[in-house]
Amino acid sequence: MLAIGVDVGGTKVAAGVVDEHGRIIAKLKRSTPAASPPLTEQAIADVVTKLLDGYEVTAIGLGAAGFVDAARATMLFAPNLAWRDEPLKQRVEERLGRPVVVENDANASAWAEARFGAARGYRDVMLVAVGTGIGAAIIIGGELYRGRWGIAGEPGHVRVVPDGRLCGCGNRGCWEQYASGNALVAEAREFAQRTPKGAMRLLQLGGGVPEGISGPEITQAATEGDPAALRCFQTVGGWLGQGLADLAAVLDPACFVIGGGVSEAGELLLDPARAAFERALTGRGHRPFAEIRVAQLGEDAGIVGAADLAREAVPSPLASGRPAGPARLRRSVFPARLRARLTRRLPSLLSLLSPGGVAPFGLRAP
Ligand SMILES: [Zn+2]
Repeated sequence: MLAIGVDVGGTKVAAGVVDEHGRIIAKLKRSTPAASPPLTEQAIADVVTKLLDGYEVTAIGLGAAGFVDAARATMLFAPNLAWRDEPLKQRVEERLGRPVVVENDANASAWAEARFGAARGYRDVMLVAVGTGIGAAIIIGGELYRGRWGIAGEPGHVRVVPDGRLCGCGNRGCWEQYASGNALVAEAREFAQRTPKGAMRLLQLGGGVPEGISGPEITQAATEGDPAALRCFQTVGGWLGQGLADLAAVLDPACFVIGGGVSEAGELLLDPARAAFERALTGRGHRPFAEIRVAQLGEDAGIVGAADLAREAVPSPLASGRPAGPARLRRSVFPARLRARLTRRLPSLLSLLSPGGVAPFGLRAP
């Protein structure tokens, strides 16, 4: 069963034909006429029509950057597109003459990573996309958690510093002001301004001025071992890990998938994030640490996830007209790495039950 997934971003519309193993077998891209909702919708319809020409497809899914309502039909607000309370599902269906399913793009990416990517086999997953800001999506018990109005999963705007840096949302001290790509760049420029001698390599890559330093230059310098660039990743990764520990206090996921542009720096970001996570996690020492992994599907995740969610939403021809329920991840074996980790920790967990053992957080030894 083939499905089409469309990833609608602020700059480009990318669409692909996706098989049931999450593989993209054909792909098209074009730029987004972001200022005009009808033109954006036409661009979506155009790429889908082209793909429909060559393939037998059962479902069409759109993943778009913005707040999608709980009915998955209306785009309430899209920061980088002109959609405001736009009935996106209806508008695109009118142009295509076929049903479509609309989903938030981070939700689509998280779904793809949990089904086919870095979090395959896990049913409690949080995707944290570290780009210019921070996007996120939550999967609980194998199902996407959307919240009452479809807007769940915006931890980038949790306040981590009282009266901290001003955020685009109007509040101060939001997490994404400390743990995003923008934060990384701000850190590097500030350092170069204050200590040009210590930031020689960064300045060289940035064309001699602090304002010339951006994400790719910082990653390159850090890869070369430049101490100033490494320090920037330590700082931002540290904030990231601290925030993940706070999220684990609320949701206790098995696996965090770190996506977004900054995740291309890989372990440069994830090493300090894991260290901070393990320092900050509540009840640490008496619970397993969640996996923190880098996303695997890259920029294709949105296409793959939107296609797969649409496929799950369309009643199967074999299901005798029974309406499809919410998409669920298939139950899989208890992940081997987690099992290994628990087994390693078993002696220390057992010691809690013995006289003189240290009582875990909130628990009493018998
Ligand atoms: Zn904010």
